[in-house]
Amino acid sequence: RAKDAGKNQFALYCEGLQSTAQRQLELQSNLAQALERNEFTLCYQPICRLVDGQAHLAGVEALLRWQHDGRSVGPQEFISILEESREIVRVGEWVLREACAQVRRWQQTGQAQLYCSVNLSIRQLQQADFIHRLIAILGETQLPASSLVLEITETLLMQHSDAVLATLQEIANLGVRLALDDFGTGYCSLGYLKQFPLHILKVDRSFIAGVAEDADSAVISRAIIRLGQSLDLTVVAEGVEEPKQLAFLETEHCQYAQGYLFSRPLSAVDLRRSFRNDHCVDGLWQLAVSA
Ligand code: C2E
Ligand code: MG
Ligand code: MG
Ligand code: MG
Repeated sequence: RAKDAGKNQFALYCEGLQSTAQRQLELQSNLAQALERNEFTLCYQPICRLVDGQAHLAGVEALLRWQHDGRSVGPQEFISILEESREIVRVGEWVLREACAQVRRWQQTGQAQLYCSVNLSIRQLQQADFIHRLIAILGETQLPASSLVLEITETLLMQHSDAVLATLQEIANLGVRLALDDFGTGYCSLGYLKQFPLHILKVDRSFIAGVAEDADSAVISRAIIRLGQSLDLTVVAEGVEEPKQLAFLETEHCQYAQGYLFSRPLSAVDLRRSFRNDHCVDGLWQLAVSA
């Protein structure tokens, strides 16, 4: 009997595996067609500049969404699949073009200083002609290079080759800024902060989460903020959800922040709507939050 039960379990296990693999394959083939089917959309999350206890909208980060089976699927569920199949190169280029065009339209309708932040995959940077594609997109969309930030991760820096380093340098030479995303979660050597042409350090939200309650998180976040400041990098705190965290950032003179406290990622239409009326002072969109 025990043997039979074992057998059945084994059979079940196999079926489980098969369906997981099958689902993965299905997901892969659906994703491969998603671009042509116009199933990708972008949402935009405000990045705020903190000034005297007030938050001003400084930029937006474009975040990819996949409209599939009647729901909006987030990138955690599919970016790695797109990276494996290299499909991320085409999708990433679409994201870049779409985000630059959208932010340019917002600039032309009053938000002249708004900047656009876009996440980049190593696969995109490994393309020999990435810099030409980037120049073409800036030309097409008319977004000034100084209004674009490209976000890369520590993992990307660690996998770098001389070619990738050269591309990063060319990007910086264009006047496009580079941000190190999720800083503190990878195993990036601190020396890289000087070796690569970086402009912005984004402190990962796992550190920000505990700054109000947990002494260790506060100490680490403070150290990262100071490190960035001493290297003349602009520091952006990610994942700010509570007023206490914002108060901490102000004490530490961290100048930029992003998180649900200010706004969740919004569709372009919703972002425009929520800032159009009551949130405008001197032509600048304001976020109704203060510490
Ligand atoms: P990320 O670049 O670090 O983006 C921030 C993520 O944190 C977003 O999740 C955002 O919705 C979430 N977030 C923002 N504020 C808060 C907060 O206060 N609390 C919490 N708990 N979460 C917050 P999302 O949109 O699911 O994106 C996840 C990751 O997927 C991104 O992390 C980025 O690494 C990647 N990604 C998104 N879009 C793209 C893309 O177009 N290309 C590439 N290569 N990667 C992308
Ligand atoms: Mg990012
Ligand atoms: Mg991030
Ligand atoms: Mg993050």
